[in-house]
Amino acid sequence: MSDTIPKPKPRPAPESIPYWKAAHEHRLSLPKCDACEQFWFPPSNACRHCLSPNFHFEDVSGRGKVYSFVTYHRVYRPAFAADVPYVVALVELEEGPRLLTNILGISHEDVRCEMPVEVVFDDVDADTSIPKFKPASA
Ligand SMILES: [Zn+2]
Repeated sequence: MSDTIPKPKPRPAPESIPYWKAAHEHRLSLPKCDACEQFWFPPSNACRHCLSPNFHFEDVSGRGKVYSFVTYHRVYRPAFAADVPYVVALVELEEGPRLLTNILGISHEDVRCEMPVEVVFDDVDADTSIPKFKPASA
């Protein structure tokens, strides 16, 4: 019964629409500052590093490493009951920003900090794809 409860979907804010549009096309695209040329996440209206309002979205490698993680063994939301145990991780991209995400394709017992990972896209419905990560291929 619990797996009939829908999971919550992302509700993009105006500044994150380009991020979600790219994800739908299976690209990981982040805001990059035109002044200091650094990426940041989550999207916002000004550079997190130098506060410049001038930026564009640019595709990133999709490669990174597990910076930190937790394993959920308890069901806090019924929609996720079928997933426990699952990993919620902070992935640090090669380009610098860190994303809160899930690690797929590996037992939760084998996830480690510093583990190389790469992006995969979870197509939750016809309109929405959520960037998640799996162990990097060699
Ligand atoms: Zn900047």
